[in-house]
Amino acid sequence: MSKIRVLADHVANQIAAGEVVERPASVAKELVENSIDAGATRITIEIEAGGRRLLKVSDDGEGMVRDDAVLAFERHATSKIRETEDLGAIGTLGFRGEALASIASVARVELTTCIEGASAATRVGIDGGRMRDVKDAAHPRGTTIAVRDLFFNIPARRKFLRSEATETYHLTNLVTHYALAHPEIAFTFINNGREVVRAAPAKDLRERAYQIFGQEFLENLLEVNGGDAQVARVTGYVSAPRDRRTSRDSQYLFVNRRFVRDRMIGRSLSEGYRSILPHGVYPAALLFIETPLEEVDVNVHPAKTEVRFRRSAAVADAVREAVKAALASASYTPPPEPEPIATATAAVSFIAPQPRIEFVPPPPVVQRPPVEASGEEIARDIEVMIQSAQSYQSAKSAFPPLNSAEKLAREVTPESLSTNIRPLGQLEESFIIATDDEGLLLIDQHVAHERVLFDKYRALEAERRTDSQQLLVPETFDLTPAQAAVFDDLVPELEKYGFELMRLSGRTVAVKAIPADLPSGEARNMLAELLDTVDAEKKSSARETLRDEIAASLACHAAIKVNMSLAPEKMRWLIDRLLQTSSPTTCPHGRPIILRLTTRDILKGFHRV
Ligand code: ADP
Ligand code: MG
Repeated sequence: MSKIRVLADHVANQIAAGEVVERPASVAKELVENSIDAGATRITIEIEAGGRRLLKVSDDGEGMVRDDAVLAFERHATSKIRETEDLGAIGTLGFRGEALASIASVARVELTTCIEGASAATRVGIDGGRMRDVKDAAHPRGTTIAVRDLFFNIPARRKFLRSEATETYHLTNLVTHYALAHPEIAFTFINNGREVVRAAPAKDLRERAYQIFGQEFLENLLEVNGGDAQVARVTGYVSAPRDRRTSRDSQYLFVNRRFVRDRMIGRSLSEGYRSILPHGVYPAALLFIETPLEEVDVNVHPAKTEVRFRRSAAVADAVREAVKAALASASYTPPPEPEPIATATAAVSFIAPQPRIEFVPPPPVVQRPPVEASGEEIARDIEVMIQSAQSYQSAKSAFPPLNSAEKLAREVTPESLSTNIRPLGQLEESFIIATDDEGLLLIDQHVAHERVLFDKYRALEAERRTDSQQLLVPETFDLTPAQAAVFDDLVPELEKYGFELMRLSGRTVAVKAIPADLPSGEARNMLAELLDTVDAEKKSSARETLRDEIAASLACHAAIKVNMSLAPEKMRWLIDRLLQTSSPTTCPHGRPIILRLTTRDILKGFHRV
């Protein structure tokens, strides 16, 4: 007996749904894309219970006649392409004809649609892929699709859905993305009956970004405008170098106004910042890449979030150069190639060795004046980064006969640390040079202090003894919609560390008090960074991880910076405190704190052994 059979339609659709419908946000993506393809000027997205109970998208687009409304739910039913050749130049967001069939196979769907001038609208009801009814209804020109009880017939998939907060967060992000990519369309987003986003038609991206993120966000951005029409036009915004993120979450990339996640573009963006941003930190970006349709293959992934460029190297160049130009126009330029002679001036300052170590009371943590970073300060920061980048480079490239210690200096294990560490001086005002019984030590002053503070914050939090400082004037700032979605959940945790936060109206919040050690000028940056990086999933699953993240972020912002001169007592104080921490050799983010050049390796280097 033969064993192969062709799957029934509803099974095939459910399998396709596995790829297209991952979570409520992916349903919203398909529906919003359909509305955009239908020429809508107004799109409303309404959700309940994180989109699981209800996810409704209404538009005022061209609508469908009755036959099309029924056919739309068939697999591979599309009005957007006809022939294989059409796949070579896709100008619509949809084209696979799979989305509605997939969604309808795993939820209860009701579609109501009407074309211009029709006497009645059509309503189609489908439950789990089974057509329930088709009848007349009332609806203005356009289409409304209500998707209820997602995965009601696939318990295994339902289990994979995250908390309401997480799904809402993804949905909010999605709506934000599409609103940015299509400023001319009015977007409204309603969550459990509350209006979260309302954006009237805007004349350009700038106005739309202002509607969604507020003035302050825009002020900190640099405009990108580069590339060329044959390969790729690159427009949008990137953040100034002082605005640093520890993940790529704030990078919104679009190719021909389709939201994509693309490694190559992300990398070119980072390359544009080379020597301006240190490794491991990322800029925020809103980048729109426009290519001729035939230059890009969008049929790579069922959810269409990945693309392939025909000339990807040229696109990468265009992105990098456009970003560089944006930075240069605001006077951010990478350091020039170093002069060979520069090595001779590597700044090492020594202090006289002290016979005995005194313990001095901890000096106050270095305070920054409680003002926003001024233009001068930023210029100084940049200057300082450029200088250190230069001296690193020159140390590597000049005077070839000099052996580099690059391979000799090693990370230190906690067991090999003695208490007998003597500071000698500072290198580049960033690293403490010290000796111990085994050789020479280099201690990264920023991460060392980060470790000290991290342990301290965690301990105080556990004992519920955190200290706060009231701000004279509460500082207010505006959250982005995505930040607002996680804000309420983060507040109780932040309060444990000494923050006092208040939600004013809408997405405006006020900071009334901050942890005692945190320089007040750092509070806003730290909060924004946390709200952007703490991802909604961790928040609900592991409180401990979240607390660690808060402590690490606090420590980072309150810690002694690099390029800061330290008095001898301060170095000794720092080393002493570091040795008392839970992990003196690695920072809360996992980077090494101490490198060692052993006496043995030094002797070997000089051919003495
Ligand atoms: P695709 O978008 O890939 O063509 P879909 O399954 O998403 O496939 O939609 C099938 C068809 O239904 C579309 O090609 C379009 O003709 C029609 N359609 C879907 N949503 C809408 C809408 N909001 N307004 C008008 N027509 C729509
Ligand atoms: Mg579609």
